[in-house]
Amino acid sequence: MSQGSVNSTNSKVRCSCGRVAIVRTVRNGSNTGTKFYGCPM
Ligand SMILES: [Zn+2]
Repeated sequence: MSQGSVNSTNSKVRCSCGRVAIVRTVRNGSNTGTKFYGCPM
């Protein structure tokens, strides 16, 4: 359970490194266009 689940009631999703994650978009592969939370670094 290292992957934090996306909870719509909590906008402060954190990366495993402790920083507040930002919404990013997949730019390649079969999931192109899919939004996901990622590290801001
Ligand atoms: Zn991180």
